Amino acid sequence: MSLRPSSLAAIALDLLASALAPPRCAACDAPVRSLAALCGACAATAQRASCSDQDVAAYVYGGAVARAIGRMKYEKRPDLARPLGDLLWRAVEPRAAGMPDACVVPVPLHPRRLVERGYNHAALLARRLGGRLGAEVYPVALARTRETPRQATLDRRARLSNVAQAFRAARAGALRGRAVWLVDDVRTTGSTLDACRRALLEAGVTAVATAVVARAE
Ligand SMILES: [Zn+2]
Repeated sequence: MSLRPSSLAAIALDLLASALAPPRCAACDAPVRSLAALCGACAATAQRASCSDQDVAAYVYGGAVARAIGRMKYEKRPDLARPLGDLLWRAVEPRAAGMPDACVVPVPLHPRRLVERGYNHAALLARRLGGRLGAEVYPVALARTRETPRQATLDRRARLSNVAQAFRAARAGALRGRAVWLVDDVRTTGSTLDACRRALLEAGVTAVATAVVARAE
């Protein structure tokens, strides 16, 4: 795998940081070697996902990967966006050449949930991925037009209608003519990512590839 200079600089910084604070497994907090997101036992539960150039997923949702994502979102662990963003980057990097000059845009959280949680985990993943790729990140390029009920409580048909019109491009000028890596933590039905993709294409984005840490089978 070839690395861009910005990626090498980021890795050098990580090595320095890990010398000061030893890295720990994103799922169970066991000590891990530098640049590893998961310990050996947790990594053994992680199953790589098959994916296409348009829809990249690092892992199948489950096991330690699901645990690490849950901790990042619900246990006030925004720091875990770093190791999880690295897992995402390793899946995206082999396909980055197919998306020249792409910028990185996260799926937005509704403002009320942003206040509850204190951070948008997808934006933190996007920042990590953008740093690794040496790509610009637009953390608020997409906005929610209305609050949607929690997807997890809905069946598939309700999920699709729930999100169909829920997003708009808030930074259309900056995005027009660009390719976009659209980032979220998990792909379930894909309805959220599809709605975001549509909003980006309507704003003049030339191509949208999605990038998620885990995909539900
Ligand atoms: Zn572990």
